[in-house]
Amino acid sequence: MFEKSALARVFFSLVVAAGVSFSAQAEQALHKGQAPGYFRTKVGALEVTSLYDGAGAFQFDWLKGKPAAIEEIGIAATANPHFLDGNEAGFLVNTGAKLVLVDVGAGPWFGGSAFGHLGESLRQAGYKPEQIDMVLVTHLHSDHVGGLTSKSGERQFPNAQIYVAQAESDFWLSKEIAAGAPSNAKPFFDAAQAIAAPYIKAGKWHTFQPNEKILDGMTVVPLPAHTPGHSGYQFESEGHKILFWGDTVHSINAQLPDPDVAAVFDIDVEGAIAQRTKLLEAIAGKDVLIAGPHLAFPGLGRVFKARGAYHWASTSYSNRWEER
Ligand SMILES: [Zn+2]
Repeated sequence: MFEKSALARVFFSLVVAAGVSFSAQAEQALHKGQAPGYFRTKVGALEVTSLYDGAGAFQFDWLKGKPAAIEEIGIAATANPHFLDGNEAGFLVNTGAKLVLVDVGAGPWFGGSAFGHLGESLRQAGYKPEQIDMVLVTHLHSDHVGGLTSKSGERQFPNAQIYVAQAESDFWLSKEIAAGAPSNAKPFFDAAQAIAAPYIKAGKWHTFQPNEKILDGMTVVPLPAHTPGHSGYQFESEGHKILFWGDTVHSINAQLPDPDVAAVFDIDVEGAIAQRTKLLEAIAGKDVLIAGPHLAFPGLGRVFKARGAYHWASTSYSNRWEER
């Protein structure tokens, strides 16, 4: 097509010449810094803010499943080194009356300096940690609750009441279960106990039973198996729903095409597969916004089913405050 006109050829050679001289003269400093780590969306009358904690990748050897499925993921991950990329995030729900965090990232307890930036993201979003009224915990793995407590034992959300399922609290805070745990699980017990301690001491650690009402407009969705009291939290406002599903899915690319793929962190592997399968089927195609701490930031989207498989429709960036 370029051959069509001599003018086009001349133009093309000018562009090439200009390109050469740009690169020869380029002295432009790279900015490198990123935009602040938060993203707001509207869910009915609620304002939900995704809070970035850090970036990482789900390691291939953390996956567990049928050999054929794992092999297929291995081939994809070899061809594309970013296939299992993921995030760490927490979420702030401003109900208009209360400021509620759902998970708080890793703090200093998991993932080294790559994680632990949620506090900074919260400040950038215009809030102070002491304003937080309530923290709903999906489970007590340190990458979800580490942000609660500093290594020296200080509460990072000094005025917040912490809510966790009774079964979850009983399991991770048990000295007996910790003593009998395999050595690679021990650090998770130690971290959970150290993270919870200052809140227990201050009378701010609360446990609940499945289906117990703890906040208006919010329903606990018990999803035990990944951990014994793993819980989702569904908020509803003006007919709009958002479900914070914790670790129901660690990797969209690995686990949505094949929900039978599990993670080594699942305490009950078969149970976790069953919970994921049941939940995906229940929400596929429904207008329920999903918030997942390990999904590509802002960690929001919807599940739908097509050609016999689940797919993810990720929420994309908008500079407007609107339903997404
Ligand atoms: Zn996790």
